[in-house]
Amino acid sequence: MGEVFVLVEHRQGKIRDVTQEMLGAGEKLAAQQGTVLTAVLLGKGVKNFADELATRAAKVLVVEDENLEHFNSILYQKVLTSLISKHQPLLTLMGHTAFGMDLAASLSVEMGFPMVTDCIGLSLENGRVKATRSIYGGKVNANVSLKNSQGYIATIRPGVFSPKVLTEKKGGITIEPSPLKGMIDLKKFLEYIEAPTTGEDITQAEIIVAVGQGIGGPENIPMVQEVAKNLGGVLACSRPVVDRNWLPKERQVGISGKTVKPKVYIAVGISGAFQHVTAMQGSETIIAINKDPRAPIFGVADYGIVDDFQNVLPVLREKTKK
Ligand SMILES: Cc1cc2nc3c(=O)[nH]c(=O)nc-3n(C[C@H](O)[C@H](O)[C@H](O)COP(=O)(O)OP(=O)(O)OC[C@H]3O[C@@H](n4cnc5c(N)ncnc54)[C@H](O)[C@@H]3O)c2cc1C
Repeated sequence: MGEVFVLVEHRQGKIRDVTQEMLGAGEKLAAQQGTVLTAVLLGKGVKNFADELATRAAKVLVVEDENLEHFNSILYQKVLTSLISKHQPLLTLMGHTAFGMDLAASLSVEMGFPMVTDCIGLSLENGRVKATRSIYGGKVNANVSLKNSQGYIATIRPGVFSPKVLTEKKGGITIEPSPLKGMIDLKKFLEYIEAPTTGEDITQAEIIVAVGQGIGGPENIPMVQEVAKNLGGVLACSRPVVDRNWLPKERQVGISGKTVKPKVYIAVGISGAFQHVTAMQGSETIIAINKDPRAPIFGVADYGIVDDFQNVLPVLREKTKK
């Protein structure tokens, strides 16, 4: 009772990164409350996931049912209401992802629990949830405090919380009976279609070289791409670069693109609008190349080069050549 539930998100045989981030955040929340962290795993044939999760959570609750093979918010809600009623967690965490967005609101209505979404900060103080939400497209951070309740639901923004857990666990795995009686066909999983990608995932990269509108045109991208490759990194970009079709959307960093946290982020010809910075300021080292010394990107950069990128990139290309 009073524990912190983390709803495990998995797809296509893989636990998704947001789950690890929730476990990292959930461990701290459970410690604040003097309670335990429980990973809640719904699926079909997910025993191997349970073993892995048991090293990162004090408890793992598993519900296996063939109808849970693919995510379906109606079925997940049915199972979760049953688990929440039985175990009475203080807080149920899920990712602010397509899954979480589909599920959290109706679950909160059914349980009568207050809910806070898209959190970038979360704490439990005397049994009450306090959260930070980034609103108005990242211009304002709102600190919110939820009303007193026996239970809460929160969704967290992917890519914001650290996936690290402080101590390795040997959590107990409990198999719970499925409350699903036969197939409920209001909503059906039809097919999984992977979005076409170039095979490079910018959210996983340790080194990112990102280009902005300041690079002038697509003809300059190969030079930057070469530098990224020489450094063992990947190419990313700001939104106008995508809007102008210089690079595909999957490479966009920002509030309407991806959140990244590489070891090194090199921003080339990027002004540093908050819609961009919000999603890359967690990078370990930020290097900005911009010809305008007043560009806001220098406000978050650890190192800055005030110059035309045309003077800097060729030198970088030479220096990084293998
Ligand atoms: C709802 C909403 C969502 C948004 N989402 C995103 C998002 O997800 N990601 C995102 O990036 N933006 C997003 N934006 C857009 C954002 O507001 C900025 O317009 C955008 O980030 C600016 O991109 P930029 O820095 O590439 O271009 P600019 O602001 O045009 O900056 C170009 C920079 O390049 C420098 N420069 C020019 N020439 C050179 C040169 N030769 N050498 C060196 N430097 C040079 C300039 O000094 C300037 O600082 C969003 C906006 C809205 C309203």
